[in-house]
Formats: sequence, structure tokens, C-alpha cells
Amino acid sequence: MVKPLVAGNWKMNGSRIFAEELVGGVLADLSRSVCADIALCPPSIYLPQVCQILTSGNNSIVRLGAQNVGAQDEGAYTGEISPGMLAEFDCHYVLVGHSERRALFGETNQQIADKFQAVQRHKMVPILCIGESLEQREAGITFEVLAEQLAPLFQLPDEVWKQAVIAYEPVWAIGTGKTATPEQAQEVHSWLRDTLRGQVNEIADNVQLLYGGSVKPDNAKLLFAQQDINGFLVGGASLNLQDFLAICRVAD
Ligand code: PEP
Repeated sequence: MVKPLVAGNWKMNGSRIFAEELVGGVLADLSRSVCADIALCPPSIYLPQVCQILTSGNNSIVRLGAQNVGAQDEGAYTGEISPGMLAEFDCHYVLVGHSERRALFGETNQQIADKFQAVQRHKMVPILCIGESLEQREAGITFEVLAEQLAPLFQLPDEVWKQAVIAYEPVWAIGTGKTATPEQAQEVHSWLRDTLRGQVNEIADNVQLLYGGSVKPDNAKLLFAQQDINGFLVGGASLNLQDFLAICRVAD
């Protein structure tokens, strides 16, 4: 069985006080042993603060994740944060290819693949986000789009999939309140598992496949019941302590 993972993506939300309260609340509640992996991805400026709270909480259940990373190790890249810097603050995961990075910041599939490799060079785990737009779904080209997004990653050695997570996030479901039905999500997740199997054989069976897109406590249960859904990437609902904890409990 694939170990579940629930990752909260705060996007560009929060404050020092918010981070303290939310992380403290998560740690207090999840101090009992949980079977799922749990990750929090605050904005990068709060990574040191959250890292410190997690470390002092002496709780290895909750791991730290970053929302973005530069593809280079160092140099003249004003405004970027290198993978080595994230690793210094105990980041375990890094989101790469979130649809907002693709749409608003023009990240290409190749740049995302470069970031994916940069994250792994520094012994962290990339959470690769992929997903189709509403127009693409309606045009019946969902699987072509996903295959294109995966293509540069499939040029890499098979071993990269031993330390990687994929989050399927239909763009039309992100932040819209419109969740994919469990059947729609499972259809894509099962395609993803089969595609990975075709590429990397049995390594595919251990890759955590997350669903993301308006996951809430009341829709998480049915989604998680699907065979190939191994957890969630949660945006809006991860900003609410009780909602996030409820989603973590579903995946536990
Ligand atoms: C996300 O940002 O990855 C996301 C899935 O957002 P939301 O849960 O708000 O749709």
C-alpha cells in the first residue's frame, strides 16, 4: 500500500502570527501517531520560522515543504531561492510546476523538469503538479496534456521516481470550489499509475499520487476512497486549522 500524504499549500497567504498559530495547532493535534505523511508549504519567507517551530515541537510527523525553487544552485538570479538554501532549512518537499507558476509566471515543462532535478540534487522530494485546463478537458485532450507535461521527466533515469510525488490538479478545480468527481479524479490517477508503470515498471507502484483542487473535509472522504488516490495537495482549506486537520484525518 502507498503511504498517504497530505500537503498544505498556503500559497501567498499568512503572516508570522498565522504561521505560529496554524503550525502550533497542527502539531498539537497530530502529536499522536498518524499513518499519513503530513507536509506544510508556507511562503518561503516563513520557512525558517516554521522550520524552527517544527524542530522545537520535536515532531517528525509534519514535514516542511517549499512552494517554489530556483533551478540553479547559485549565481546571479535575483529574487530566486536555491535548492541548497531550502535544504538548509530542513525542507523535505518542494512543489514544482504548480498551475499558478505555469500560468502566471510562464514556467515551461522543461523549466519544471530542471527544478525537479535541482530539488533531487539536494536530496529533497519534488511534488510535481500537473493538470489540464477546462478548455483542454472539454476538448477531450486531458491525457495528451498530462503526457506532454510529464514528457521531459520521462527522459530522466527511472530512479528519479523513487523520491518524487505527483499531484494531479485539474486547473478548473483549483480555488474554484469545483472539485473533480471521485470518478473523474480516479480515471486520471489510474491513467497516471499505468503510464508510470509503462515507464518505470514496479517503481511506479510506490509513487504517491495526490489529488488537488478544492479539497474540503466534506469531499475528501470519497476522493480518498479511490484506489489510486494516495492523498491530497490542499490549497484554501489548508489555511483553516480545523479543515486541514479534518482532511489529514481522512487520509490517516
Ligand atoms: C492548490 O493550490 O494546489 C490547490 C489545490 O488549491 P485549492 O485547494 O484552493 O483548490
